[in-house]
Amino acid sequence: MTDVRTRFAPSPTGYLHLGGARTALYSWAYARHFGGTFVLRIEDTDLERSTPEAVQAIIEGMQWLGLSHDEGPFYQMQRMDRYREVVAQMLAAGTAYLCYSSKEEVQAMRDRFTELGEKPRYDGTWRPEPGKTLPPVPADRTPVVRFKNPQDGDVTWDDVVKGTITIANRELDDLIIARPDGTPTYNFCVAVDDWDMRITHVLRGDDHVNNTPRQINILRAIGAPLPQYGHLPMILGPDGAKLSKRTHAASVMEFSTMGYLPETMLNYLARLGWSHGNEEVFSMEQFCAWFDTDHLTSSAAQMNMEKLAWLNNHYIKLADNARLATLAQPLMAAQGADFAGGPDLAAALGLMKERANTVNELADAAMLFFRTPQPDPALLAQHLTDAVKPALAQFAERCATVDMSKEALGAMIKEVLAAHGLKMPQLAMPLRLVLTGQLQTPAIDAVIALLGREMVLARIQKFL
Ligand code: GLU
Repeated sequence: MTDVRTRFAPSPTGYLHLGGARTALYSWAYARHFGGTFVLRIEDTDLERSTPEAVQAIIEGMQWLGLSHDEGPFYQMQRMDRYREVVAQMLAAGTAYLCYSSKEEVQAMRDRFTELGEKPRYDGTWRPEPGKTLPPVPADRTPVVRFKNPQDGDVTWDDVVKGTITIANRELDDLIIARPDGTPTYNFCVAVDDWDMRITHVLRGDDHVNNTPRQINILRAIGAPLPQYGHLPMILGPDGAKLSKRTHAASVMEFSTMGYLPETMLNYLARLGWSHGNEEVFSMEQFCAWFDTDHLTSSAAQMNMEKLAWLNNHYIKLADNARLATLAQPLMAAQGADFAGGPDLAAALGLMKERANTVNELADAAMLFFRTPQPDPALLAQHLTDAVKPALAQFAERCATVDMSKEALGAMIKEVLAAHGLKMPQLAMPLRLVLTGQLQTPAIDAVIALLGREMVLARIQKFL
């Protein structure tokens, strides 16, 4: 195969949304699979909607995911001279022509076609044909440049996702490729870029299917090789509706804020539109080794938040505790965590991560080690009864000297229970309450070992 070159070509009009991230991921993985090149191109010609902040947001999202590009970012706004050059070449070659029809005239043509029950289009007034005399050029009117779209035949491509797609050329208008002020239009820029950047595979959202025959015709007219196209079906929200930022978390960085790890998002997005047998959990290394265009799904994929949570829990359990500490620390500081008075944060997170579906849940859960416990008086009265207090006192006494390992603590608690004729929950529950302020914690001996002698004694003293 020729050198594989793929691209991600976002329009910087917002954040990096899930669909965009998946397109980027597949294009990146395809290039990685073949040892090819992944190009980042910023399609910023819509001056009203493009912002530098959106460029930053997209680059930040890709960095967070670790989708590194090999070339670019190329900005379309910096390529204007090149587009003008190709427009001039096409005019010279007769594959494009000047059109002096006014906006009003074009609208009237479109209305006429609509009245006839046909597709509204440009009627070809200024389209040069052998033997045809063109109207006199109106004074004081700046022309647009139109592409001379073939009038007969079809455009057909083998879409790697959707199969063969055929569009009749008569369905396609003579598209404007340059406006009266000379600025090039969308489909034209994409075609020139894909040509110049020697793109071999275009994976993008299926909202672009209608653009593809136009781009193919332009590529043919300028003598460019055609890339392979694959149009990915859209991602639906958990409710089955189109993802929208008003009703769903749609931005990749929102998932970061909600406490999802980048490896979770990558693994999740990889499966959202592609499969490799029954594999659900895999690294990006594996994904790049497996990824091909044969197993892309052609139906829309629906988000499943339970599965995402499950996957995130899996990656949280795998994650290095020190890394989790870096992520959880600011969240806990915002809740007033007292790190100086608490145990080692990484160790605390390591103890709590088994059940955490997000880093935020993990941070919340670990707070019990970093704030003064304030047990509910009613619960205290229920669990710290007069029958239990002597056992708690003896526990505290033994704690002053016992080896603070989980094992030694476990053995010591058993001895205290035996001495007072109590069962495990009768001591474990009040211990949980006085040490953490809550009844649900990981194994009590592990909690005590983590808190350490000093803090355990200080917290118990208050209740004896
Ligand atoms: N700029 C387009 C978008 O953000 C993508 C164009 C393409 O991939 O060809 O939807």
